[in-house]
Amino acid sequence: MTDKPVRVRIAPSPTGYLHVGTARSALFNYLFARHYDGKFLVRVEDTDVERSKKEYIEPILDAMRWLGLDWDEDIIYQSERLDHYRGFVDRLLESGHAYRCFCTREELEAERERAKAEKQPARYSGRCRRLNSQELREKLASNQPYTVRIAVPEGTTSYDDMVSGTLSRHSNDIEDFIIARSDGSATYNFAVVIDDHEMGITHVIRGNDHITNTFKQIQIYRAFEWPEPQFGHVPLILRPDKKKVSKRLGDRDVGEYRRDGIVPEAMFNYLCLLGWNPKTEQEIYRREELIERFTEANFNASNAIFDEEKLIAFNKAHIVRMTDHDLAVLVAPMLVEADVTTKYWLETRWEYLRHVISLLKERVRTLHDFVGLGGYFFSFDYTYEEKADAKQFTPEAAELLTELADRFEALDEFSHDSLEAALKGLAGQRELKPGKLIHPTRLAVSGMSIGPGLYDLLQALGKPIVVERMRKAVEYIQKKHRT
Ligand code: GLU
Repeated sequence: MTDKPVRVRIAPSPTGYLHVGTARSALFNYLFARHYDGKFLVRVEDTDVERSKKEYIEPILDAMRWLGLDWDEDIIYQSERLDHYRGFVDRLLESGHAYRCFCTREELEAERERAKAEKQPARYSGRCRRLNSQELREKLASNQPYTVRIAVPEGTTSYDDMVSGTLSRHSNDIEDFIIARSDGSATYNFAVVIDDHEMGITHVIRGNDHITNTFKQIQIYRAFEWPEPQFGHVPLILRPDKKKVSKRLGDRDVGEYRRDGIVPEAMFNYLCLLGWNPKTEQEIYRREELIERFTEANFNASNAIFDEEKLIAFNKAHIVRMTDHDLAVLVAPMLVEADVTTKYWLETRWEYLRHVISLLKERVRTLHDFVGLGGYFFSFDYTYEEKADAKQFTPEAAELLTELADRFEALDEFSHDSLEAALKGLAGQRELKPGKLIHPTRLAVSGMSIGPGLYDLLQALGKPIVVERMRKAVEYIQKKHRT
């Protein structure tokens, strides 16, 4: 850690929606900033005109908001700073830390082919670095196009990585990379350094696929004699089959998990444990606990596996911990969307919705399950589960349901206990196991063979609905057995 106030950033490229890898980097930087009372900034790296698309920016920011990664200060857009970078290229040319390269595409291609044939690593030979002033003058005078390359000093570059300790790379393996293209525009690694420096970034936490970039970026810091941020490269996120998570392999972006009914608290918690370790057995944490515990000391050095079943387990755990009200806020629009009920109906029966949520929350895997497993709380528009129908809806059940509906209707108080007493009373008289009544009753009032405790369910639905549904089921059974 440094004594300077922490300033970190996430720098998404809008070439797609918010990928879990970028979301995890954003989360680590966010937690680091919040833990050390620092600032968490956003910079949109939208200079790749071919691959960047404006329409990805808002969904990326939206997914970050959904995760609760609120950022400080205004967002920086690299596309608005293109002219700004040029002056810095000139400075390095003047100081001799960079040089003009007049090699043509064809020459470079031939160089690469040669290296390949000789089984040597393909890297720039440094030919233009050795141009004398006479040659340089001539080329400039004849208006030959040029790129600008950094002159990487001979020897080894080392830095202390927050995750992996000291890392070193020889200049032969860094090569004199291009910092400005022939149209004068800055390349990615150059723009990043100017931005990180001017934004006062103190720590850069990102995926370890950026280590090669880091060695290049360090050359630029050193050429300017600017203080370097501390770099931390976290292991990549892999799929259960050990391949790197990628869109191509069908992996989903954060917005899709949101649409799949994952709650943000679960995603936040799960992503945090992909590459960081709380050093306890406990896995389920609230956001505040993670902020408190999060330090750079607990990064993992080995790759992390993104396992959707594990995410679901986290989702279940967080749903149970959430308040009924907070869940109701998320579930209400889903019920409306699924046409199970209307907005108006829910607004006038908010207490009922909360109660339904409380009955179901132990059983759901995702928010959508509140709809899939609880639609009958809002409408009678369901069919009976086929297997259960065949098994439970027998002529005998019709007779029992008729009698039980009569007894329920006669109850003064429609409560868990009175319902249980009525059902068990009838079972006792007929010398039947209560299951003989419980299963067909559940099927009659919900269409399902599983769900919350039957008496709670009946009480929640209320007498008129329960009795009506039981009688409708009787009609259905009679009709079924008549034909
Ligand atoms: N735009 C880069 C990316 O999306 C950011 C890398 C960095 O954090 O410097 O991978």
